[in-house]
Amino acid sequence: MKTAAVDVIKKLAEAGHQALLAGGCVRDHLLGKAAKDYDVATSARPEEVVRIFRGAKTVGAHFGVVIVRQADETIEVATFRRDGVYSDGRRPDSVAFTTAEEDAQRRDFTVNGLFYDPLKDEVIDFVGGRDDLRRKVIRAIGDPRRRFAEDHLRLLRAVRFATVLDFEIEPTTWSAMRELAPCIASVSAERVRDEFIKTLEHPRRVAGFDLLVGSGLMGVILPEIMALQGCEQPPQFHPEGDVFVHTRLMLGLLPADASLPLILAVLFHDIAKPPTFTVDETGRIRFNGHDKLGAEMTGDILRRLKFPNHVVAPVVEAVANHMAFINVPKMRTARLKRFMARPGFEDEMELHRADCLGSAGDLSTYEFVRRKQHEFASEPLIPPRLLTGADLIQLGWKAGPALGSVLTAIQNLQLEGALHTREDALRWIEVNAPVPDQFAEETGAV
Ligand code: ATP
Ligand code: MG
Repeated sequence: MKTAAVDVIKKLAEAGHQALLAGGCVRDHLLGKAAKDYDVATSARPEEVVRIFRGAKTVGAHFGVVIVRQADETIEVATFRRDGVYSDGRRPDSVAFTTAEEDAQRRDFTVNGLFYDPLKDEVIDFVGGRDDLRRKVIRAIGDPRRRFAEDHLRLLRAVRFATVLDFEIEPTTWSAMRELAPCIASVSAERVRDEFIKTLEHPRRVAGFDLLVGSGLMGVILPEIMALQGCEQPPQFHPEGDVFVHTRLMLGLLPADASLPLILAVLFHDIAKPPTFTVDETGRIRFNGHDKLGAEMTGDILRRLKFPNHVVAPVVEAVANHMAFINVPKMRTARLKRFMARPGFEDEMELHRADCLGSAGDLSTYEFVRRKQHEFASEPLIPPRLLTGADLIQLGWKAGPALGSVLTAIQNLQLEGALHTREDALRWIEVNAPVPDQFAEETGAV
């Protein structure tokens, strides 16, 4: 048990207050897991907490939360409280300070409503949280409909805890979630995004995906994903089924520690298949341009969910490029090297691998790239140029598009392995690209 939090509790107890560890840290402690942070709940009022701990900062005065620094750590100390009326579907309009028991009642799920007294080594359970931990159940405290109606974010929290803890959602809690799922639309995109990320980043992400879909939350947050259901694909390439089945299957094929951009790229790589669906005269299903339109849709969706650009950009690029893998075996070496040298390429390889394994299972292109990576491994994919723009200017060239094309041509030959040294490059220029007649070029006389 974290000593800094226990020290805080000792000091509060010495001053005559009741002080307990509360919420997630008690749950994780009882599950034998390391807690992310240790929260203290106490009968002491915020002003009393501030008096006991030098340098303590009141953060949510309204909610009675004080941040205490102890042994280089920050511990949240919150006065036991009862929540007032909720009018915005997210936060109570007011709170009142109260007892530990009432403080337990305001918490979201029974497994999050436990207290622990580290001085007496005693769990204090007003809500049946210990039984639910044993039974591996997520159950709302009190009337589930009321609790989700008060704070709509709890809908996504239930999904997240069921996913990361590998717990079942208790049936009445689940039916309340299904009934109230539309309310998630009124929660800020940032909060939705953060819960969504925590659910899908977890190795049990397919379970999280299924809960999002089954509860109806996915339909509100990402209707585009639900539109993949029933979008048929050519069976010779996709024996697994429709685009939804394929996407879900791919999620389950990712490495446990897959990056967020990779997970999102899987979710959205075929997002434009429904709007590009066509059947030609031979009866063959096609999705022409679904990569390009998909990249646009992905950008729009991720910006709607307020993802930062450093996440949006690689996901959009991966979606835009996912069909380019088909051309990889035919690419000239220079083009292939440039394709492989892009920063997000390893994630794109994983996307491609899952795309193949989640459909017909042909990994030949994936293996081709791996062989090429091996072949190219002795030197950087994009080595320093043999000649620079400055070199050409010294030879008498002028800056401009013509100079740029010559530089690219030389780099292509270098990447192809046709030119190795600066001398090779200079010789090549002499023969193939002598300094143009600048005067003629400038006057447009050529
Ligand atoms: P994590 O491991 O993600 O930190 P946690 O259970 O600690 O999980 P926090 O969001 O840190 O979750 O919240 C701490 C505690 O505060 C929860 O365990 C729960 O008791 C209570 N709580 C948090 N958010 C809510 C909410 N929206 N409604 C009711 N109680 C909540
Ligand atoms: Mg926490």
